[in-house]
Amino acid sequence: MTTLYEGAFAKLNLTLDVVGKREDGYHDLQSVMQTVSIRDDVEIDVGTGKPWVLTCDKEGIPCDARNLAWKAAEVFANAAKKDLGGIEIRITKRIPSQAGMGGGSADAAAVLRALNRHYDYPFSIMALAELGAEVGSDVPFCVLGGTAMVEGRGERLRKLPDMPDCIFVVCKPDFSSSTPELYAKLDETAIPKHPDNIAMERAILAGDIGQIAENIYNVFDPVVTAENLEMNYVKSIMNSYGSLGQQMTGSGSAVFAILPSFEYAAVVCNMLKDNYSNIFICKPV
Ligand code: ATP
Repeated sequence: MTTLYEGAFAKLNLTLDVVGKREDGYHDLQSVMQTVSIRDDVEIDVGTGKPWVLTCDKEGIPCDARNLAWKAAEVFANAAKKDLGGIEIRITKRIPSQAGMGGGSADAAAVLRALNRHYDYPFSIMALAELGAEVGSDVPFCVLGGTAMVEGRGERLRKLPDMPDCIFVVCKPDFSSSTPELYAKLDETAIPKHPDNIAMERAILAGDIGQIAENIYNVFDPVVTAENLEMNYVKSIMNSYGSLGQQMTGSGSAVFAILPSFEYAAVVCNMLKDNYSNIFICKPV
């Protein structure tokens, strides 16, 4: 039996646009995504000789074939034509769930990367990302990591230069929003504003954190904010204490801000900590 260790990093959507609805009912997205230093830890025992087991230290996460980490192991075993000989997956959770931070997808990507390494790289990184699309739409990006333009349902990836070093504060309010409901609401109305992904790419290329902060935009943000005034509160605190820009990530409900320094980030956290327990300071990775 061998034990594999892999970090599972959360993602933020610096931009998120819905650019069309497909005939199969899914939406076409265009998003600049960034991995950040908030991580789950994934440990995998390969070759236990026993039935598959998955454990997670956080309540409410499915610990069976519904878990994306489990699905990823199945997808890998089928595609690589390997008998894993029984596995045990242990997940230590730090990424908040239903936050828009890709927690489950990050765990799945960690399993794919770890198994690919264990079996001496049967898949290139891009082939592994493609496999990830069979597990979930954010998994391909989580396999690749860094900074990337993500399109389609999440399966089309274009690596961008790493975004410049900066400090993020992420706050996850207690409510959660339903992703299908959000898409339904977007379908009902014309999207009033879209992110400028060309300007975002240019800002990343130039390493200009001010321009990056100016161009963060998520089409779901106004939809969620309209119904949850709390979002305005969180964003206004961030804005009042030095944030260069703040926005919801994914389908929420976590909100992130870009701060000019750790000191500013600490002040924002201090101002939010009495009302919110899920607050993080993190960096791009
Ligand atoms: P995304 O940003 O991709 O929309 P999310 O923020 O909605 O992700 P996740 O942490 O991925 O949140 O969890 C969403 C749901 O997925 C959970 O409520 C849980 O039932 C299920 N799930 C399956 N596998 C996992 C996993 N490994 N970790 C967390 N949740 C998982």
